[in-house]
Amino acid sequence: MEIIGLTGGIGSGKSTVSKYISDKGFKIIDADKISKEIMDNNLTVKENVIKKFGEDILSSDGAIDRKKIADIVFNYVEKLDELNNIIHPEIISNIDIKIDEFKRSGEEKIFLDVPLLFETGLDEKCDEIWVVVANEEKRIERVAKRDNVSAEEVKARMENQLSDQEKIQKGSLVLSNNLEIEDLYKILDILLY
Ligand code: ATP
Repeated sequence: MEIIGLTGGIGSGKSTVSKYISDKGFKIIDADKISKEIMDNNLTVKENVIKKFGEDILSSDGAIDRKKIADIVFNYVEKLDELNNIIHPEIISNIDIKIDEFKRSGEEKIFLDVPLLFETGLDEKCDEIWVVVANEEKRIERVAKRDNVSAEEVKARMENQLSDQEKIQKGSLVLSNNLEIEDLYKILDILLY
């Protein structure tokens, strides 16, 4: 089974690409979704997160409030490391289980949608890596609009990730998303079939 890693910086358009690929019927392992499931349902992880970050990060219903966590870790890089140390091992073992399931069910090609693909070492599981890139101004504008946050907040989040240049060097294919969405889809059709 071929595993294609899909990555890119904040606002590059990974989720847009991933959704299109999924709508076309390909199987995707979505690391953000797994991370959310783990935060919601894995009690050991939840306990450890509360120990590190305090009860203030809980919402009124007692669940971990991802927005509150994001506000902390995007502003203090050492906190991001602490969160990653708690959650990454769980995410990786969960991804391994899903890869095995897809192998056993006879899939020929699957996608691993992981924003921090290189940072987590998950790139090593991939046969090929597609890096989605877009100009910084476009990314800032798109995320500010999508998340209703300021341009400064988007820039702060960007600073904690590998640069596009580093990702491009490590990837196998670059998908430029400075395009109209329809043109991006046309390129994906060529790559997928
Ligand atoms: P993050 O890492 O923050 O989750 P992402 O890389 O997954 O971001 P998307 O959510 O796919 O990025 O895209 C960011 C925003 O830009 C979304 O609102 C999306 O609809 C929009 N967008 C993506 N590609 C384009 C495009 N080619 N033209 C216009 N808008 C786009």
